[in-house]
Amino acid sequence: MTAPVAAARGAYVPSGDYTLIIGGEPVATDDGFDAIDPSVGTPWTRLPQATEAHVDAAVAAATRAFATWRRTTASHRQRVLWEMADRVEAEPDRWASLLATENGRPIREAYAADVPTCAGILRYFSGLARDHRGDQIPLEDPGSLAFTVREPLGVIAALIPWNSPIITLANKVGPALAAGNTLVIKPSEYASASVIEFVRAVEDLVPAGVLNVVTGFGPSVGAALVSHPGVAKITFTGGSATARRIMAAAGGALTPSIMELGGKGAMVVCADADLDLAVADAMTGIYMANGEVCVAASRLLVHESVHDEFAERFAALARGIVVGDALDPATQFGPLVSAAQLERVRGCIDAAVAQGAVVRTGGAAPELPAALDGGFFLAPTLLEDPAGATSASREEIFGPVTVLERFASEDAAVARANEGPYGLAAGVWTRDLARAHRIAGALEAGIVWVNKWFDLPAGVPMGGIGDSGFGRELSAETMLEYSAPKAINIGLGDTRPALWGR
Ligand code: NAD
Repeated sequence: MTAPVAAARGAYVPSGDYTLIIGGEPVATDDGFDAIDPSVGTPWTRLPQATEAHVDAAVAAATRAFATWRRTTASHRQRVLWEMADRVEAEPDRWASLLATENGRPIREAYAADVPTCAGILRYFSGLARDHRGDQIPLEDPGSLAFTVREPLGVIAALIPWNSPIITLANKVGPALAAGNTLVIKPSEYASASVIEFVRAVEDLVPAGVLNVVTGFGPSVGAALVSHPGVAKITFTGGSATARRIMAAAGGALTPSIMELGGKGAMVVCADADLDLAVADAMTGIYMANGEVCVAASRLLVHESVHDEFAERFAALARGIVVGDALDPATQFGPLVSAAQLERVRGCIDAAVAQGAVVRTGGAAPELPAALDGGFFLAPTLLEDPAGATSASREEIFGPVTVLERFASEDAAVARANEGPYGLAAGVWTRDLARAHRIAGALEAGIVWVNKWFDLPAGVPMGGIGDSGFGRELSAETMLEYSAPKAINIGLGDTRPALWGR
């Protein structure tokens, strides 16, 4: 099934040329590159390519601004973040059409998920700004008073991937500003426009230089930023291979980092699961955001007694998904972000099939109107690999591809779910409370869902273990990532150990 292509596509037209933002000023560059609209495969705007000198200037501006911003009151920072959220919510059409145009997010999802989630994260950290504090430490010595204060770190380098740009941005900007830091933001080369526009929309709320944006390619601009000695901490969301390169580059300056990386989310469906709900959540878990999600339900381990029924229901629903132009409100599922990503995902499917996986549904381009011929489309795909023996069960595909596996015993399901290097999201479906606790406890992942998937409310820590990274976003403890404790120990008495003849 395909959505009719909107007669007039209504693709987003930026109000002005995109520029870097350094020290509160728009900065044009000599070089640039095309941004491609993935529904049609043609350029829709130009984006600026920054140089190392621009990165130097952005870090210098953020360093100067830090001296002022760190001294602002918590209540001021709280008001600033709240107002940022208001401004995001005031222009849902701008963000939704921009996201659909730049990364192929179905516009109905951008309205329903990206815009409110971005604003909600900013509001959450607005609240935390007022409760960011250290501890008073009880001591044996009555002549001492020791306590900690939380101090901001300085310039945060924020590296953003393309799949959920304004949500990921809020996950960096919210806690970093709440704790009193300044930022240099490097968006993905595939989704820079929404990040530039976000900063343009809110920059008058903060002193010049608090929010800077440098755009361009990762191996040049990104690499210059993460190895810059003026950066106090790196906050990165992206792939594990990129994370390794960043950590190697940052090692020279001993720059610490938060790493939110990829995953291979295993959903275990037990024999007593509510199959209606499990199938519905598995569909959302893998096909939301075109499957380009780090916490995607990209492995479905289903008990042998319900496996065939699950497969039947899932495949029937997947075949009925409305694929089409991301800008069309009727579209449920859009294109992948780029030609390269489409080719990579198809390569993953081919490799799995060569190893024995079977395509149950999807696996190829859907039938679409000729106007979308140039788009980067792949039909929602379900692979079957009962033993979980192919690369589709181990490697992150980062596309609309999930693999159905069959298991006979609880222990085997848990052991298989825990195979592989990732540990971001996992889940279990069962009506048995004891089994739910047992399996949730045994799954090795930073996030475990029971009888649900894809629920990431602000306040619940989000992050992984193993190759899925370290550090936690979206929660109270995230504030600790963006500040350092300073221990202050005050002598209240005049007694000292008699070591030197007193
Ligand atoms: P990516 O790793 O290719 O790029 C992420 C960012 O890093 C981009 O801004 C890119 O330009 C930059 N970059 C690339 N090479 C660099 C280098 N050598 N030095 C510095 N910066 C560099 O990731 P992507 O393809 O944009 O996004 C997809 C990946 O992100 C997937 O693996 C996905 O699982 C992961 N992801 C994780 C989360 C999470 O929260 N755990 C969320 C979303 C996406």
